[in-house]
Amino acid sequence: MELNSVITCPSCRFSRRERVVADACQWFYACTNCGTVLHPRDGDHCVFSSYGVEMHRPFGFVEGVPG
Ligand SMILES: [Zn+2]
Repeated sequence: MELNSVITCPSCRFSRRERVVADACQWFYACTNCGTVLHPRDGDHCVFSSYGVEMHRPFGFVEGVPG
């Protein structure tokens, strides 16, 4: 299963779409614009949880509804 997510760098606000590998958490992510290395926030297991926006749902879909 593959997802795409958009990661927004908290340092420079640069956004980039990245492929998310669902069965392998990504512990760090280097911003391709400014080079800042992002790590998950406390309680998160993956940079996509902390910085990513899930893009597999259509726009307008209600957050938190399964499916
Ligand atoms: Zn950046």
